[in-house]
Amino acid sequence: MKIYLKGLKEDHALVLDEKIDPRTLDVDVGIMRFPEPLLLHVEAWRSGEDLTVSAHVEGERRLVCSLCLEEFNNLFEKDITLHYDIHGLDSVILDGDVREEIILEHPIRAVCRSDCRGLCPACGANLNRKTCRCKSKAF
Ligand SMILES: [Zn+2]
Ligand SMILES: [Zn+2]
Repeated sequence: MKIYLKGLKEDHALVLDEKIDPRTLDVDVGIMRFPEPLLLHVEAWRSGEDLTVSAHVEGERRLVCSLCLEEFNNLFEKDITLHYDIHGLDSVILDGDVREEIILEHPIRAVCRSDCRGLCPACGANLNRKTCRCKSKAF
């Protein structure tokens, strides 16, 4: 998203809504993927040579469960505040900072549901779907 500074008055907030393609933003990292466009809502204020941007990002997120390795959906939402020194600038591009804020939310570990039973360490079976025989053999 680009904010044009010309005509941006001090006493008037600029409100913008944009759908961003997650591939353009390059936010699919590690166990985190964004299958749908992200919604970005921005309010920007100018104060002298400073621009304050208050943004809300929202979108469907797909994570890989750390226990069973299955993908599951999870709503991503984040409020972001950014500050820019706009001295001598005509416009400000938010994408790099928005990307960074989204990537900061990459979880180290994700679990599809609180009672996920994970994979059998012996045969790799997904224990949410079936029971394997490994356990009964061990006992
Ligand atoms: Zn799981
Ligand atoms: Zn097993």
